[in-house]
Amino acid sequence: MAEKKELECSFCGRKESETDMLIAGLEGHICDRCIEQAHGLVVKELSESKNSGLSAELILKKPQEIKSFLDQYIIGQNQAKRVLSVAVYNHYKRLLQPASKNEDDIEIEKSNIMLVGETGTGKTLMARTIAKMLNVPFAIVDATVLTEAGYVGEDVETILTRLLQAADYNVQKAERGIVFIDEIDKIARKSDNPSITRDVSGEGVQQALLKLLEGTIVNVPPKGGRKHPDQKFVEVNTRNILFVAGGAFDGVDRIISKRLNMQAVGYSASKNEERVDDKNLLQYVIPKDLKDFGLIPEIIGRLPVLTYLNPLDAKTLRAILTEPKNAIIKQYEKLFEMDGIDFSIDEKALDYIVQKAVDYKLGARGLRSLCEAILTDAMFELPGGDEKKLRVTRSYAEGKMEKSTLSKLKAVS
Ligand code: ADP
Repeated sequence: MAEKKELECSFCGRKESETDMLIAGLEGHICDRCIEQAHGLVVKELSESKNSGLSAELILKKPQEIKSFLDQYIIGQNQAKRVLSVAVYNHYKRLLQPASKNEDDIEIEKSNIMLVGETGTGKTLMARTIAKMLNVPFAIVDATVLTEAGYVGEDVETILTRLLQAADYNVQKAERGIVFIDEIDKIARKSDNPSITRDVSGEGVQQALLKLLEGTIVNVPPKGGRKHPDQKFVEVNTRNILFVAGGAFDGVDRIISKRLNMQAVGYSASKNEERVDDKNLLQYVIPKDLKDFGLIPEIIGRLPVLTYLNPLDAKTLRAILTEPKNAIIKQYEKLFEMDGIDFSIDEKALDYIVQKAVDYKLGARGLRSLCEAILTDAMFELPGGDEKKLRVTRSYAEGKMEKSTLSKLKAVS
């Protein structure tokens, strides 16, 4: 009689006695070691295909779809949304181009974006919402903390440190991310005279930013700063990173107005010409105005898509309170709902909040502080209590506001 053959792994041939575990399949067996090895391969393969397949992941949405997405989160600002939708569409079309040169040698250039608009009008929100839609890493940096290498402050490379962090240190992902550079206007040259003694925070930083915006390989300190001198550098190529810069450009309206007046004289102010809306001069902004403001032409050239955001009027503020997908009031509803409290707020109370935001010139950011001032007592007292209903009327809102420190603010005329 034939001796019973010892089972073995069909992959590596190890005998059952040499393994910790042997699992039977339909026509073969696999040992614990082979399972582990195969698992490692699967994980590696999947993560690699995920990275290289980023372009497939970036489902390319058409400009109108991009705008509809923005509409869910951002009220108004139609012109900026349209311009941004096209720029983002073109940017990602450029990424989907094969890396090798095309037959026709047409290389689509980068469409970095410059947003001009008062603070709190939604510039950061625009850039953030785009990143959310595309599911790419997003980092915000404040241009005012940047300095030239060698000076106190942060080197421009730390911009990429932030992006790397946002991408969980996945370099390939970071290389397709979006960076929002806030307060770009604050690094404008202070004087129009280029020969002034070294201007640490201004022109030097603009120069340092140039290469980054254009596309270059940068050695990035993964932890940022100069406090970690012995950290290894990570190479990041900025070629496909989309940069969105934003700034309030306080005073640019005077430059625009001057230019428009000069044009009007030069062209003999024809009657057919549209009347200038001098309440919102930013809508006429052109690259030259930013140059006159103090940005160097090279920076302006590398942020070729220029658009503006409108100041927020009472009607827009009112809509911001309740309409966006994650509107402030919807957030409070949710917070109360989690405590089983039925929360409602009267139209008149909402009008009151908006009126205060306008009186105190708090803009959209202030809406949140106003709501906090009105609702903090309730959020403290109601959870765990017997009262399961909160209806905020105008007089309730007024009462809470009068008690709050915000009411010490003076109305701005
Ligand atoms: P900016 O970058 O222009 O200073 P933000 O994008 O940081 O302004 O806006 C501040 C806050 O105001 C945002 O978080 C958002 O809640 C709100 N906000 C501003 N503008 C809008 C808008 N047009 N639609 C919806 N929310 C807005």
